[in-house]
Amino acid sequence: MAAPLQPMQPMQAQMQEQLLPRPDPVMQAVIEADFRTVDLTMDPNNVTALCGPHSREKCDECDMDYVQLNRLSKVLTANPKLPFPPPPNVVNQKLSQIVNQTKEEGNALFRTHQWEKAIGRYTQAAGFAMQRAPWEAQQLLREELSTVLSNRSAAHFENGDLVSAITDADSVIQLKKPWSKGHFRKAKALIALGLLPQAKEAVQYGLQFDPTNVEMMGVLQDIELVLRSYANQPRPGDLEENAT
Ligand SMILES: [Zn+2]
Repeated sequence: MAAPLQPMQPMQAQMQEQLLPRPDPVMQAVIEADFRTVDLTMDPNNVTALCGPHSREKCDECDMDYVQLNRLSKVLTANPKLPFPPPPNVVNQKLSQIVNQTKEEGNALFRTHQWEKAIGRYTQAAGFAMQRAPWEAQQLLREELSTVLSNRSAAHFENGDLVSAITDADSVIQLKKPWSKGHFRKAKALIALGLLPQAKEAVQYGLQFDPTNVEMMGVLQDIELVLRSYANQPRPGDLEENAT
């Protein structure tokens, strides 16, 4: 993915510096949270990644699937002189396909309750989305990343990792504040943790951006109902007072 190593004129270097936005440290941290080293080997042409132990592109034994990654690798090696900036939508469409397909693989694993494998696919899909060249529409990156991370949040939730579910939901909110999904997923995880006041805050915050969202209004009502029933119960302090 590195830029071609050609000596750049100072003017060119300066231009590139201006055009390349710095990576967002929050997004980078989200992607790298699930980082793990893998045992892989390359084919003789140095294009195709294969699992180390069996030299397979897709290996159930190693739980590795490099099919989409290799597709991307082939796209890039087939276009070594990608002009800068390239004509619109050259890599774009294929990358969208790869992100989408990897996400769909995650969704299929999600539907069959294979949470950890689903999380792995969503992480891959997020990684592919992050490969988007800086000159491509940032809006597209936001769309792709928010959907993938919202699904990963749901998978973490189902997997019982509520903190990761909240972390991903927070990223979704950062990427796409008006989208109810992020707020909804965060509130659900907070409720599961028994943090009702925080859950209420999360839903109220989400409703600011989407005031007529029926799903969120329902959750808010439920939370308020439970909080009210708590308020009506005698607290331990009250009991002590009654006893004396
Ligand atoms: Zn293998």
